[in-house]
Amino acid sequence: MPIKPRPITYECPTCGWSKTVAPHSDCLIIGRDGFDTCPKCGDKNLALRSANLIERFLLGFSSALMGR
Ligand SMILES: [Zn+2]
Repeated sequence: MPIKPRPITYECPTCGWSKTVAPHSDCLIIGRDGFDTCPKCGDKNLALRSANLIERFLLGFSSALMGR
């Protein structure tokens, strides 16, 4: 059984931007599944952490809305 990748939350310490992504595979696509800079202010020091329960719930909710 393959292990499902865990959702990850990116957070910008500078402007407060955050995004939760659920990788579909081991290879991340920058701009869809991953970020190396903040899309809002361009900060390169994004914090990375596992998404908490609420964020995972919201991610599933928005995915359902988009019909994924
Ligand atoms: Zn930022």
